Amino acid sequence: MDLLSIDSLSDGQIGEILDRSDAHLSANRSGHSGEALQGRIVFNLFYENSTRTLMSFSTAAHRLGASVVTLPVEQSSVKKGESLEDTSRTLNAMRPDLLVVRHGVNGAPQKVAEILDCPVINAGDGTNEHPTQALLDAATIRSRLGRIDGLTIAICGDIRHSRVAHSNALLLPRLGATVRLAGPAMLMPDDLHQPHSVDEAIEGADVVMMLRVQRERLEEELGDAPGEYLARYGLTAERLARAAPNAVIMHPGPMNRGVEIEGELADDPDRSLIALQVEYGVAVRMACLEMLLA
Ligand code: ASP
Repeated sequence: MDLLSIDSLSDGQIGEILDRSDAHLSANRSGHSGEALQGRIVFNLFYENSTRTLMSFSTAAHRLGASVVTLPVEQSSVKKGESLEDTSRTLNAMRPDLLVVRHGVNGAPQKVAEILDCPVINAGDGTNEHPTQALLDAATIRSRLGRIDGLTIAICGDIRHSRVAHSNALLLPRLGATVRLAGPAMLMPDDLHQPHSVDEAIEGADVVMMLRVQRERLEEELGDAPGEYLARYGLTAERLARAAPNAVIMHPGPMNRGVEIEGELADDPDRSLIALQVEYGVAVRMACLEMLLA
């Protein structure tokens, strides 16, 4: 089995990953490592930059007793022009037990999975999906608010380029939430028929998830003056006041402080779940590795 998209998971598997992640979070917090995956080898193949996803997959594997090998793509034969297919065939011949892949092209993990004999996890493909991010977001929301069913979740910012938004828009409604997507018109997907303004999306929301402006994926410059994005579309204290009284703040990272989110809100110890998201990143990935390998 591979984990390439939210739709590739059954409701039962999603429930199992979320349930198991709570115990893994406690284990990781207390520095406990187990042996469930001892002797297994996990390969990381990241064609795009990563801090949270790469480190948390590696930490998750180590906590479960597996070994991790990360290909430094920049120093690899990829730089000599080796194709994704040939790189996949080469890595497959080394017989890893699981491969985690991130790539800038939508659908690339699917191609890799067709070549690999072991399970493959999509750690983000282009603007398409980032399923383990959505799972960790769901686990974070559930742990803090006690449920997902019936919540209103505003996801705001660069929706067009966000694989995080796409995976969350598939997962959170399946768990009973209402998802509102909003952002500047230029950063909204063409096929979204009823876009909200950011203010409308945040109105009464239980969760406000802000997204990074992905300038590296923009076809055209946004052309915003300093401070303009924050004032028009970003999360400010004034805008957050529209949300439900105890609404929580989320961001998948990395953050552009002062652009999509005011730095003080990102650091708010009571309302910001950003550090908890990172913790659940490890825990949820432990649950995913276990599901695919144990
Ligand atoms: N880290 C997330 C991703 O890789 C979000 C972002 O880059 O803005 O999709």
